Amino acid sequence: MNYAADLCTCIVTLPNPLYNLVDAFFFFYKRPMNVRTRFAPSPTGHVHIGNIRAAIYNWLFARHEGGQFLLRIEDTDRERSTPEAIQTLLDAMNWIGLDYDKEPLYQSTRIEAHLEAAEQLLSKGLAYKEDKGNTGQGEAIVFRMPDKDMVFHDKMKGTLRKPAESLNDLVLVRSNGTPVFHLANVLDDIEMGITHVIRGDDHIENTYRHVALYEALDAPIPQFAHLPMIVNRQGKPYSKRDGDAFVGDFREKGYLPEALFNYLTLLGWSPGDDREKISRDETISLFDIKRVKSAPAQMDLDKLYWMNGAYLQAMPNDQFKQGCIAVLKKQGLWTETLSEDYIDRVFDLMRERIKCFPDIVSLAGFFFTEEYDYDEKAVNKRIKKEGALDRLLKLKDQFVDLAPFDVETIESVLRGLAEDMGISPGGLIHPVRVATSGLPMGPSLFEMLEVLGKDRVIERIDRTSARFNPNR
Ligand code: GLU
Repeated sequence: MNYAADLCTCIVTLPNPLYNLVDAFFFFYKRPMNVRTRFAPSPTGHVHIGNIRAAIYNWLFARHEGGQFLLRIEDTDRERSTPEAIQTLLDAMNWIGLDYDKEPLYQSTRIEAHLEAAEQLLSKGLAYKEDKGNTGQGEAIVFRMPDKDMVFHDKMKGTLRKPAESLNDLVLVRSNGTPVFHLANVLDDIEMGITHVIRGDDHIENTYRHVALYEALDAPIPQFAHLPMIVNRQGKPYSKRDGDAFVGDFREKGYLPEALFNYLTLLGWSPGDDREKISRDETISLFDIKRVKSAPAQMDLDKLYWMNGAYLQAMPNDQFKQGCIAVLKKQGLWTETLSEDYIDRVFDLMRERIKCFPDIVSLAGFFFTEEYDYDEKAVNKRIKKEGALDRLLKLKDQFVDLAPFDVETIESVLRGLAEDMGISPGGLIHPVRVATSGLPMGPSLFEMLEVLGKDRVIERIDRTSARFNPNR
């Protein structure tokens, strides 16, 4: 026992490069016990992306090693851990595709075991009772921190040490008889046979104490990997105030779970090259916890949006179409009478521009309703400018007799008129776009007009002109 403990301390205190060698030795010659990781959230009704990223890394590590990934719900705070909060958590995991290998363990079912372990520590003289604050409520059970520096090896941060004098004794059971987080967390990890604890680096301070508890409980100490935080542009922990921060936010906004999974995986980890879109299976085979970056990872919503777009681009046409139609239906923009041909042409035209399904509404809603909104700035710049409406109406006059009404004829009429007027084609292109779509930008104008069709284009120009004509 002493020999084993000494050996552990010796390995644990080795400098980092040497430790890696030891790690490599174990990897090749004595593959460590079956890897078992866990996600141990405290349900609050929201699942923060930082938490789900920790879950993803635990899941990837276990899957890569052919081990197991378990779920423990730390639901001892009964007020916050409502059935709805727990359901939100389970839904988020299911949505993003994190399956677990056993039934979840609910921490609240283990309180007896936690209290029993505290009693045992008492009876071994490793803990003592104290009336904290002399409340007269009863005595707390307090763990006696060993009189030594606490040291552990962290897969991310290397060897971490805290001097004995800065580690106070630790309350295990409050005077009201409830076990604290540290006791419950450590005992449940022991009970579940967790070999690797991968969690946020806000838990490092706790870990010095947890290691002492493992030793006092005569239990094997798991390996630790403390992940850097997800931060905002200012380097502060990323929160709701900085933008969407919960899994549910992204789900509601129509993000694809595989895109969020991919993005969060790369937020702080890299496969060693600059690939960005990596399938889940490939990520499992490439995942190496040592490649998690030590610096905090900065959340970048634009990049996530781009990543989602990359997944949409790669999606089979039919699936893409169905996704768009679902959003249009939800927004009341869908009519069953739309022809298949029309829908296909709209989606073809828009496909490259849509990075997230709801974009179909903001970027292409005008294909599905006459009640499209006008972008105010675009109207001021392109329609309300001196002479713009007159020019637009002249263009309309040319459209009236145009047959066929297709990309070539529209383009040649527009360019011809611009030349006659002595203006650049942009002097017509921009106003007609704003008039017929309400938007300052969009797909290729001539194709867009062809798809809308002559009658609608003429109607829309008339309506726009009536609406914004200053002499009306
Ligand atoms: N319930 C704790 C948390 O969500 C667990 C931390 C851990 O993974 O050990 O922060």
